[in-house]
Amino acid sequence: MIFRQLFDQVSSTYTYLLADERAREAVLIDCVFEQHARDAALIRELGLRLTHVLDTHCHADHVTGAWLMKAAFGCSIGLSPVYGAKNVETELVDGAVVTFGAHRLEVLATPGHTDGCVSFVLGDRSMVFTGDALLVRGAGRTDFQQGNAPRLFHSIRDKLFALPDECRVYPAHDYEGRTSSTIGEERRYNPRIGGTVREEDFVGYMKNLALPHPKLLDVALPANARSGEPEDGRVPAGPDWAPVVITYAGFPEVAPEWVATHRNDVHVLDVRTEAELEGELGRLEGATLIPLDELRARVAEVPKDKPVVVVCQSGKRSALATTILGAAGVERRANVAGGMVRWRELGLPS
Ligand code: FE
Repeated sequence: MIFRQLFDQVSSTYTYLLADERAREAVLIDCVFEQHARDAALIRELGLRLTHVLDTHCHADHVTGAWLMKAAFGCSIGLSPVYGAKNVETELVDGAVVTFGAHRLEVLATPGHTDGCVSFVLGDRSMVFTGDALLVRGAGRTDFQQGNAPRLFHSIRDKLFALPDECRVYPAHDYEGRTSSTIGEERRYNPRIGGTVREEDFVGYMKNLALPHPKLLDVALPANARSGEPEDGRVPAGPDWAPVVITYAGFPEVAPEWVATHRNDVHVLDVRTEAELEGELGRLEGATLIPLDELRARVAEVPKDKPVVVVCQSGKRSALATTILGAAGVERRANVAGGMVRWRELGLPS
């Protein structure tokens, strides 16, 4: 199984990508609206087919990226029906099963943080995605949005702690950089709900946390009631000058074929050294020539009346050049994927 744990620094949210290695079918758990480009790039680069985007609950601290994923990949949005959220097609009720290739996730209702909280247990019980029910050495807050400490106590003690000791726990958040735990570990060491704790201990603990009101609550809840669909129902506009793709590495990239047919709409910046320009790969007519070593000092020489596409031998140095251009305020810029090597392979004119 392919497994990736992704992190959003603003909300301290973990997003999980799970996929069947052979069938290439994938599910994404708890994705964040602002991280859509990153997550979508990873799915594309790994050659996966996203079939489901799942949320463990209706989040109060970030807007879900579920609707954006559906818009990009046509996947089904899964959430508990308890919230009555728009755009949900896969109802995550207790006992429901979501399959991807030869793998399956079983839905376990674990309410208490909110009414509709669910956990996802991998078919072989080696992993559980606990949302905000059970956290590493913690538990989700129960002081707003239908929070109910006694309910959470029973969700964790009766359902999650019934899983095998070695089952790995992957929470929706961690604020201290802890990435996972195990059921056995939490059963022993969780300071709120481990060991010999009783219900009244847990309820008393949760009642006295005195946590600040979630900053994004008023934004996140209405947006998540639409599964993250923007109010105008439109995908936020990206670059309009070219089909620019952001790679998982974070670089804006454009296909050489597109550049070849739009030569007059862009400036080409070639960042190879002078010696390389005379080589067999050739060069593009009218390109501005500034070696990468000198680009920071000479960035003012780059014409800015048209978008800038950057090229080098294999597309690596030119990728870094897009970062240098970005820092210098050149917004419309992209790397030519694969560089002159790819350009030549495609038989494009140079
Ligand atoms: Fe939450």
